[in-house]
Amino acid sequence: MKKILFIILDGLGDRPSRDLDFKTPLQAAKKDNLNYLASKGIVGLLDPITPGIRPGSDTSHLNLLGYDPFKVYTGRGPFEALGLGMNLKPGDIAFRGNFATVDRDLKVIDRRAGRIESGTEKLAESLNMKMDDVEILAKEGVEHRIAVVFRGKGLSPKITDTDPHEENVPVKESRPLDDSGKKMADLVNRFTRKSFDILDSHPVNIERRNSGKRPANIVLLRGAGVVPELENFEKKYFLHAACIVGVPLISGICSLAGITPLKIKGATGTINTDMNAKIRGAIDSLSRYDFVLINIKATDIAGHDGNALLKKEIIERADRAMEPLRDILKDTVIMITGDHSTPCSVKDHTGDPLPIMIVTDGIRSDNVTSFDEISAVKGSLRIRGSDVMNLLMNYSDRAEKFGA
Ligand code: ZN
Ligand code: ZN
Repeated sequence: MKKILFIILDGLGDRPSRDLDFKTPLQAAKKDNLNYLASKGIVGLLDPITPGIRPGSDTSHLNLLGYDPFKVYTGRGPFEALGLGMNLKPGDIAFRGNFATVDRDLKVIDRRAGRIESGTEKLAESLNMKMDDVEILAKEGVEHRIAVVFRGKGLSPKITDTDPHEENVPVKESRPLDDSGKKMADLVNRFTRKSFDILDSHPVNIERRNSGKRPANIVLLRGAGVVPELENFEKKYFLHAACIVGVPLISGICSLAGITPLKIKGATGTINTDMNAKIRGAIDSLSRYDFVLINIKATDIAGHDGNALLKKEIIERADRAMEPLRDILKDTVIMITGDHSTPCSVKDHTGDPLPIMIVTDGIRSDNVTSFDEISAVKGSLRIRGSDVMNLLMNYSDRAEKFGA
């Protein structure tokens, strides 16, 4: 049996770019190591979810790891909260929220509290509380955003939002969508009222009023979802598994699946991440783990910035860091792909398929010698995210036989 190295270059796929002579960043990049690995392995195109679906990083990683996102992804709330680094447990109900400005009658004056930029950490902190037997946890996001998590028994996401999604109307009363939502709706309504009581007189808001700014004196909630109970990855595949991930959203998903996040010095979720440290750390960890997932976020960041030259440069850096991978093909199955395309011309995720390679000694390699979107068309793979774990289990000689 071989070990499995699972490398995600986030947002790797792209489209031809004007700045790169109408090549994709991957086509334009100097990438000797990626090309070498591709020439030894099998290459093709991957639809992270299904053809044409624009994946989020969360739904895509879930699908690639063998969890059907259409079943486990019930609302954005839990994944936003994971993205803020909140420690969630299965069964928690999580919401996305806004700090907003309301008047005495709870009429919404400004859904974004004057696009508040500072002080939200203290405001969020003041909202951590216990209500009956339920624990409420709050964490600030960027600007006016906040995540709120309810933890306790008998909770359900089957309720309506308190966010009216417009201004000059009252804050909405949350209502249960079925019987399971009764307790939750009641808690949410009480929390909303309480958030006003606490926030309206909070020192941060007194100071905002004094300097002529709108107070962030209520929290509006939307997008309730339950934190899914993911089947434990190690039990599902009989793999002792770890990950090296700088993005809280992805490491949060890995944690929910029971994949151990490893701390590697210099490895971050930014464009300055130390890719050598990440790759070397992963190779070292393979002595202790059967499966190691690496996510390199920098490619996606360059895509969102619309910076094709930067994306090409980041791919080249990643390629240089991958040199040591040439030496581990005997005992390791290496997969390299992305979680979706983030074309620089679009600055967001698209449903375009993206290149994938699987390489190990002895694999029946195809004739593709370059790792890019166009060359991949001539490769032997045309697969969906949900096929990936099956292929890796097969090539690492770990798959169980289907039938006798
Ligand atoms: Zn992504
Ligand atoms: Zn992205």
